[in-house]
Amino acid sequence: MNDMLQTAQNTIIKTGKAMKISREVIDRLVQPNAIHEFIFEVEMDKGKKRLFQGYRVQHNNNLGPYKGGIRFHPNVSRDEVQALATLMSIKCAVAGIPYGGGKGGVVFNPKECSEGELERISKAFARAISPIIGPEVDVPAPDMNTNGQIMKWMGDAYAAQAKSLKLKAKNNEILATFTGKIVKFGGTLGRTEATGRGGVAITEALLDKLKAESLKLKAQSPTPYTLPPKPSVAVQGFGNVGFYYAKIANERGMRVVAVSDSKGGVTQLKAESQKLKAESLDVDKIMQCKKDKGEVAGCGKKITNEELLELPVDILVPAALENVINKENMHKIQAKIIIEMANGPVSEEAYDYLTKKGVIIVPDVLANSGGVVVSYLEWYQNMKGQTWSEEKVNKKLHAMMHDAFEEIWQTYKNKKISIKQAAFETAIKRIIS
Ligand code: NAD
Repeated sequence: MNDMLQTAQNTIIKTGKAMKISREVIDRLVQPNAIHEFIFEVEMDKGKKRLFQGYRVQHNNNLGPYKGGIRFHPNVSRDEVQALATLMSIKCAVAGIPYGGGKGGVVFNPKECSEGELERISKAFARAISPIIGPEVDVPAPDMNTNGQIMKWMGDAYAAQAKSLKLKAKNNEILATFTGKIVKFGGTLGRTEATGRGGVAITEALLDKLKAESLKLKAQSPTPYTLPPKPSVAVQGFGNVGFYYAKIANERGMRVVAVSDSKGGVTQLKAESQKLKAESLDVDKIMQCKKDKGEVAGCGKKITNEELLELPVDILVPAALENVINKENMHKIQAKIIIEMANGPVSEEAYDYLTKKGVIIVPDVLANSGGVVVSYLEWYQNMKGQTWSEEKVNKKLHAMMHDAFEEIWQTYKNKKISIKQAAFETAIKRIIS
């Protein structure tokens, strides 16, 4: 079993036991409802046919249709898709949206394919999963290496299939079967920024609590530490999530003092005085520079990815890969707050170690749920035949993220458990009630 699946299942078992839930109910939550495996054939550009393997795991639908992305990657495996589907059940329940958890994947490297091949593979996979998806059954979305264009191809293939399968859905409902679509083909405004924006909303809700409750942070400081009015932030990852988190955090009055991508990063902190006085980076300018030079590292004072994680900032935001804070570097982390914007960036061992030291870690299932919340808002608009302004989408996202945070914060405070445990407890309570 892969590590991610093991960790997801262990957390459910541990939380279920602490909640005194019966073993049968816990087992039901651990096991998915269905694991679908598909082998399908696609004609490649040179005329040869190639076999592809794909998965769709439907974990739990107690709260509504299965919801989760489809990734294209050579390392996709049944275990990985199952782990991600399990975490989607928890994430949707944490966010308070009427969805269950699902995930899909196709095992291949899309970077080795032409656009025509990518279209045919996307459509062939959509035809394969057509009998098991639908606007009120299972609603896929983009994930790693898939995007709005691929959702459009998949939606077209599903619509054609729906006709031949004589499905009774109306046109707008057919549109609602895939989210993360391009805006002109039924997507919603605000989706691109949603995960970063939602993460900043969660960070602000946390900062408000710390202020209102005059909570002093005990971690990483010889004396109890009060956050400055403009807390410093380091963001690892400068893709969709990291860029918008950094941009919106600056707009909302935080100070993003370091950012990085896979090749390294830049910082405003000076080596000789790594105090927290640095000004914010201009992240739009860095994005422009990254587009010109192909990397963030050439756009200012250089820093490695390892160094970025160990900076003495108030808030550390891993927004790239899983497992980047682990038993090797957990002793060197100096941040007082960690916002998990990537999926699983802090290993189980590092999570326990850092939480015991007093570091506040907001778990991925809460911190990065803004993306699926806006996917839900897209689905809702499609189902009702409506089109909302970006302002309306952002307002709704903000309110839903604040509500999700509030409930989990209360459980965390009342039960004196970790925020991750509180998030899983809130989700499990909702799924089984
Ligand atoms: P992306 O592909 O747009 O960006 C990833 C970024 O990470 C890139 O800037 C890349 O250069 C950087 N990166 C890769 N390896 C790195 C390394 N070793 N060190 C530092 N940076 C590195 O991906 P994304 O959509 O921004 O997703 C990032 C993370 O957030 C993933 O874990 C993803 O599963 C998670 N997530 C994304 C969404 C979403 O809506 N996009 C929603 C929930 C969770």
